[in-house]
Amino acid sequence: MIDYHIHTPLCDHAEGSMEACVRQGISLGLLEICFLDHLTVRSEEKPKSMTPEEVPLYLNAVKTLKDRYNGKIAVKAGLEVDYNPDAMETVLKILDTFDLDVVASSVHFLNDIDVVSHSAAAGQARMDPDALFARYLETLYRMCRLDFFDVICHVDLIKKFGRRTSSDFQAEIEDILSLIREQGHVVEVNTSGLDHPVGEIYPSQRLLAGCREKGIPVTLGSDAHRPEAVGGHRAEGLAAVRNAGYQTLTGFTRRIAYAIDIDTNPKADLLEKRAETIDFSKRGNPKSHV
Ligand SMILES: [Zn+2]
Ligand SMILES: [Zn+2]
Repeated sequence: MIDYHIHTPLCDHAEGSMEACVRQGISLGLLEICFLDHLTVRSEEKPKSMTPEEVPLYLNAVKTLKDRYNGKIAVKAGLEVDYNPDAMETVLKILDTFDLDVVASSVHFLNDIDVVSHSAAAGQARMDPDALFARYLETLYRMCRLDFFDVICHVDLIKKFGRRTSSDFQAEIEDILSLIREQGHVVEVNTSGLDHPVGEIYPSQRLLAGCREKGIPVTLGSDAHRPEAVGGHRAEGLAAVRNAGYQTLTGFTRRIAYAIDIDTNPKADLLEKRAETIDFSKRGNPKSHV
């Protein structure tokens, strides 16, 4: 199995060594792990992310582990880019400069509203949940129109703190899923929601079924911020993926997607599975980097 969402201490809110994460992956028998640390470019001095200047250091560290554990586990290099329209120039420069296996994008902020951290959630208790969800979905839609990334992380993160809305936003969600399909983005099944107040995987089973209906490929990640969390809740994640009717997950090498059969785990199959690429023939605009 795979874990495509692992953080490192470079983001200033994760702990443990990168090598310990790799060893944890091996001990669980994972086929592939992907470091997907934060690249958040915002005006705050250090917004819980590596800085653009630290990207080469990070990628060198991943490369060292990739080589050291070659044959035991596939170690991939990725970035979880925070969606910030004002930072696109810096982000694109970085993505054009460095070789990455996968680029993910996440909505963590609605302009100045932080929808990801526990400390900020308390201050939002009096905000109208419907207004907050609507703003989140608008921001997500704008992000999905772009094509600098391969994977959308925790697509319904706005539910993290268990807020309840009166509307189910079905029309907006339908538009977003159609756009995701058209753009050829992959949706991440992120199990960390099981440890958050909402107590469910991102995306919800209903939303995942919607992804499946549209033919949107999925990948799997724990969002681990410490080595012991690597591969966390993977059984629940896989069950959700299977329940939605998927037979494959998506892996990436140098930003080329390929399918990984979720029912075959033996490492001997790894090379063959890598060669099997996903049929993106229906997607609208092939990405320039593929
Ligand atoms: Zn995130
Ligand atoms: Zn993350």
